[in-house]
Amino acid sequence: KGDLMKGRRVLIMGVANKNSIAWSIAQQMAAQGAELAFTYIEAMEKRVRPLAKEIGVKLMIHCDVTSDESMEAAFGKIRDEWGELHGLVHAIAFSDKEELKGSFVENTSRENFARSMDISAFSFVDAARRAAPMMAPGGSLVTLTYLGSERVIPSYNVMGVAKAALEASTRYIARDLGPKGIRCNAISAGAIKTLSLGGISGGRSLLSAGRDWAPLREDTDPAGVAGCALYLLSDLGKSITGEVLHVDAGFHIVGFPDQAEE
Ligand code: NAD
Repeated sequence: KGDLMKGRRVLIMGVANKNSIAWSIAQQMAAQGAELAFTYIEAMEKRVRPLAKEIGVKLMIHCDVTSDESMEAAFGKIRDEWGELHGLVHAIAFSDKEELKGSFVENTSRENFARSMDISAFSFVDAARRAAPMMAPGGSLVTLTYLGSERVIPSYNVMGVAKAALEASTRYIARDLGPKGIRCNAISAGAIKTLSLGGISGGRSLLSAGRDWAPLREDTDPAGVAGCALYLLSDLGKSITGEVLHVDAGFHIVGFPDQAEE
């Protein structure tokens, strides 16, 4: 417990259940004194409400990022209830799971390519545009990405392309909002067992590769991701913007897994 986020209002987009990365971040934010709002999609409401209650989140807003009306209504609600916003966490991604397997070249359709980009990358740009006018200098935006943007990861396919767009968007947002004193960063988390990971064919092998090959020889701990989010959303992360920080037990530095000792 601490007060690094005391007096700060943070909107968290992307809590689906207790395994969500956004939930780990929300708990860390609440423990540091932040006032929180959650957005959720209808299908997840039953799971999200009790979690919100657990940490005293009163502002719960339905929001489907594919709809302009829904985004307008959600940010309108934040404007009406809070007026000002200090932090935003974007932990949202989606792709048809039929395309998260096998050949990227063969399995990627026009429709799902566009949809994955819309939900997983454009939604952060849209959220940043709507959040920025409510932010004073010191405001901070954080999104979640994965190594599949930089390296070819089996089955990650079109999500890797969307994450590359998300990371590039992070830099352009940082450039545009920097003069207003607003920072924008991405956390590249290692594989964590969530609903989203379940949609990736062989998602379990991503977990075990992390455990076996990462320098720390352990799974990425969601608490480490939440700690990084705290760093970026609070003044601890002052002067950091446009950055992609890896929180993955060091997995991203490994070029080739260690061979068994002779
Ligand atoms: P999750 O399934 O708990 O979260 C994904 C969220 O996206 C859900 O809350 C879902 O409701 C939301 N979402 C999907 N479509 C939406 C829409 N149209 N409108 C609004 N919200 C929508 O899984 P997670 O792993 O916690 O994912 C959070 C973020 O972390 C994602 O961007 C994911 O790509 C990223 N990430 C995950 C891992 C991992 O291994 N789990 C690793 C690195 C990055």
